[in-house]
Amino acid sequence: MKKLLLSLYLVCTTLLLPAQETPLNILVIGAHPDDCEADAGGTAILWARMGHRVKFISLTNGDAGHYAMGGGELAKIRMGEAMEAGKRYGVEYRVYDNHDGELMPTLENSLKVIREIRKWNADVVIGPRPNDYHPDHRNTAILMQDAAYLVIVPNVAPDTPPLKKNPVFLYASDRFQKPTPFEPHIAINIDEVFEQKIYGMAAHASQHFDWLPWTSGRLDQVPEDEASRLELLGKWRPSTPTEPIRECLKKWYGDQAGDVSHAEAFEICEYGKQPDKQEILRLFPMLD
Ligand SMILES: [Zn+2]
Repeated sequence: MKKLLLSLYLVCTTLLLPAQETPLNILVIGAHPDDCEADAGGTAILWARMGHRVKFISLTNGDAGHYAMGGGELAKIRMGEAMEAGKRYGVEYRVYDNHDGELMPTLENSLKVIREIRKWNADVVIGPRPNDYHPDHRNTAILMQDAAYLVIVPNVAPDTPPLKKNPVFLYASDRFQKPTPFEPHIAINIDEVFEQKIYGMAAHASQHFDWLPWTSGRLDQVPEDEASRLELLGKWRPSTPTEPIRECLKKWYGDQAGDVSHAEAFEICEYGKQPDKQEILRLFPMLD
């Protein structure tokens, strides 16, 4: 009798458990080591915590991003920073050895991106929009867009098996208005992981505490100690929702949207799979 009750209990509890889902495969593509973190770092942490696979790739080695050093010396430092950031986010990281400031949407780079997406068996691919101040960002966007659809074509890069389905391609948010402003379709509340996002970004010390403050004339404001640096970076890069992103948060979080202090948002690229609401909830399980 005890055995029967135990069996019934096990059957009932098994039925109550959610079906074992296959982990999602998320690929974030940036031009420089530190781009993926800023674009989708918070959402990446949420995916990784839920057991999904996230990979960041940087299409250049970042060897131009400093005022006092450059070339191989800087590329080496930035590779180390990227690997540390990957650990802090719980994601894989790959840095391509293309020169910073010289990324072009060549066939060679296009095939590299196609192979990356296929090998990762990506469900979602995230990258910048093609309207951006930095040519490397624009060319990264073109390379990502050009991979949409071609990832399923067997005769393109035939050495790497094609995907059976076109992934969902998403643009990360930006502030640029011409020719069209960023249009948020998906917005993610990252409040619970915002500190971790900043901690991960801070791994790129050569950028956030040297280079970027230097370009904006704020190098003298950077403190020496770690805690003060993290606090400052949080203030400089707050992920505060803009009005359109706040409106988008309402769509996904209802009345709770007003309480969100930090968010990341994404625009669906027209060239990849076009997800309906149910599919978006499957791909972004943190919305559930
Ligand atoms: Zn960049």
